[in-house]
Amino acid sequence: MGRIYADIIIDISTEKLDRAFQYLVPEEIAGELQEGMEVTIPFGRGDSRRKGYVIGFSDTPDIEEERIKSIICINKTAVSAKGRVLTTAAWIKHRYGSTMINALRTVLPVKKKIKSSEYSTVCRNVTPDEILIEIRKLDPVRYISRIRILNALLEAKEIPQTMITDKLGVSPSVLKTLEKKGFIRIEKTREYRNPMPDLLGAGMNAKGIVELNDLQKSVVNGIREEISSGSQRPCLIRGVTGSGKTEVYMELIADTIKRGRQAIVLIPEIALTFQTLMRFYGRFGDRVSVIHSRLSDGERYDQYERAAAGKLDIMIGPRSALFTPFERLGMIIIDEEHETSYKSEKMPKYHAVEVAKYLAKREGAALIMGSATPSLNSYYKAKNGEYALFKMDMRAGEGRLPVSHIVDMRAELKAGNKSFLSRALADAIAKRNAAGEQSMLFVNRRGVAGFISCRSCGYVVKCPHCDVSMTQHLNGKLICHYCGHTEGMPSVCPKCNMRSIAGFRVGTEAVEKGLKEMYPGVGILRMDADTTKKKEDYEKILSAFANGEAQILIGTQMIVKGHDFPNVTLVGALAADMSLHAADYHAAERTFELIAQAAGRAGRGARKGEVFIQSYDPEHFALKCAAVHDYEGFYEQEITYRELADYPPVCHILVMQFFGRKQEDCMARAWEMAERAKALCDKTADMETERQSVIADEGGDLQIIGPAPAAIGRIKDIYRVGLYFKHEDVNLLTGLKDMAEKAQEQHFATPGDPEVSMQFDLDPVGMF
Ligand code: ADP
Ligand code: ZN
Repeated sequence: MGRIYADIIIDISTEKLDRAFQYLVPEEIAGELQEGMEVTIPFGRGDSRRKGYVIGFSDTPDIEEERIKSIICINKTAVSAKGRVLTTAAWIKHRYGSTMINALRTVLPVKKKIKSSEYSTVCRNVTPDEILIEIRKLDPVRYISRIRILNALLEAKEIPQTMITDKLGVSPSVLKTLEKKGFIRIEKTREYRNPMPDLLGAGMNAKGIVELNDLQKSVVNGIREEISSGSQRPCLIRGVTGSGKTEVYMELIADTIKRGRQAIVLIPEIALTFQTLMRFYGRFGDRVSVIHSRLSDGERYDQYERAAAGKLDIMIGPRSALFTPFERLGMIIIDEEHETSYKSEKMPKYHAVEVAKYLAKREGAALIMGSATPSLNSYYKAKNGEYALFKMDMRAGEGRLPVSHIVDMRAELKAGNKSFLSRALADAIAKRNAAGEQSMLFVNRRGVAGFISCRSCGYVVKCPHCDVSMTQHLNGKLICHYCGHTEGMPSVCPKCNMRSIAGFRVGTEAVEKGLKEMYPGVGILRMDADTTKKKEDYEKILSAFANGEAQILIGTQMIVKGHDFPNVTLVGALAADMSLHAADYHAAERTFELIAQAAGRAGRGARKGEVFIQSYDPEHFALKCAAVHDYEGFYEQEITYRELADYPPVCHILVMQFFGRKQEDCMARAWEMAERAKALCDKTADMETERQSVIADEGGDLQIIGPAPAAIGRIKDIYRVGLYFKHEDVNLLTGLKDMAEKAQEQHFATPGDPEVSMQFDLDPVGMF
């Protein structure tokens, strides 16, 4: 496409994005002008000079040519923080593929005038001593919600009401009662206040700062040295759960703030609990803000404006917090770095870690990531020296790492136990029930798309070409989602000839029912997609469990992260091997992660924890390593497999995803792109370019896999087809993406061409 005209938006806010104005690009700047740049333009009747942002180019005028005005200049100096957010959008678009509008929608909050609605703040109306006296008077079981609020008000003098209702899971009627009794007062304001609570001040600050232990100090100093060395390497902390990473982050953020710069802290939404927020707030006060999904568009926009106006030092939130327009960004922290929620599922399918790397480099900021179970990708880079690595293998507070047992469920079956609970785990639960301690049962439902296994020997049907499990489709046939290989459902197990081969599923509901029969009268809570339909449900269930309202918590992977439960001394993982057989090369990594994180929940308090891992495949290295907290051992074995099979992090994968009403159209379009990609690479290889050496390198060739129908081949009558490209050089893959985008544009411009839309996923974190 030509670059005669530039589309420019004057006001940055998602509402106004569709209103772009066309301007002529003067020849002198044509070579330099790029999407995302800030320019000066004449605007309106009087041609007053305004700032605008380039969001696209075209070579045909939308209105009469004479009426199109010309750009005055590119504003090179003093690009505003918001302008830089646009540059980020342009980078994301280039790397991950999408329209500029979609990229802009990703990075900008919606600007909406808040209709003069009122905001309520819960304020403490009495002294802390009076609150303490009241807490002691109240029956801890009956008045659990009241006690929660009173406790929170001991730490903070004022707390926004939404925070209490969302994060503490307390209903407004409880607030009314406390107001009537005079303990609190509810203040209404027209102006939106900080969504973080207002804390006591001096008292809380003293409490908020923990004296770091020697290990924490050495990690902090190591990272300080790394930062001051000017290496610009991201830092990765591999630290077991509870090793005190959050304290390390806070210490480093304090440095950044001292230097007059700001910090962004990414935490997966699901782990963004009241306690975590209070820790940050207790230390840094009201120059901290938070973004979470419960904020309205207006509230979100307000936080964005406060950041741009320099009224904040720290922004905490899930991946979208990355786009906070700080003027002097000094540090980005990514906690639970391995979380797949850091990858966007919508176009543009960006990964927060990659965007953070780009931002840190551009802004000269430090990037610090932490996890108990780093992604293979990050650890690989740490091992190669691309990241600086720091380890914390001991828990900081009280509590030791638990002891784990792997239970062979095949043996249970042989011994006549057909229950979902092994005898050992059932006994262990009964013991905890009797001792007044708590148990967590994690039902692994990941990769549940119906893999086929043998209950007698644990054999799993895999694709002969791809080393991923075959998936049973509704028509009964087994299919490989990576190459399309299809075969019939076996009637006996190909390995042991028993008839016990079948699709395998366990549900949390069935587990709950079974447990209620086994342990009558014992309080049981269940947390899964069904019981957490509303956003506050999640926090409510966790709070109830933390308050001891139940002895057993059953749940899916949701329960694996989040609160600290000091009274939990037993964790059971049911169907631990379930996620091993997902039709996805990440299967072992996700399983290790889940089991290690689940095991990390036991023994956080003074009492020792115990973990039972039930599996039909007890010898699998992912389970064995998770059981003994051996990340390194897991990494070594898994990386060998990735190297052999050419999977990331050894190379990059680009998935082109095709969507259309007819499967044959999707397949045809995919084949066309495969052909074009081949031609492009042959051509590049013929030329004497740098790339030639990469392509000609042994094992460095572009691999094209597919096209094949996606794991879910059709959704709402739209067919889905995937085409995979593997190569070590990510730029080559971005080149293929650009090529495909151009080819698609031609199809769109040709009347009569089949309607097939296309999306891209670079280094996907799940299956398509
Ligand atoms: P992580 O982020 O690695 O899971 P946290 O920073 O949340 O670990 O620390 C786990 C627990 O240990 C928290 O309750 C925290 O207050 C406590 N803790 C952390 N560092 C120290 C320390 N130096 N001294 C005492 N307690 C600590
Ligand atoms: Zn296959």
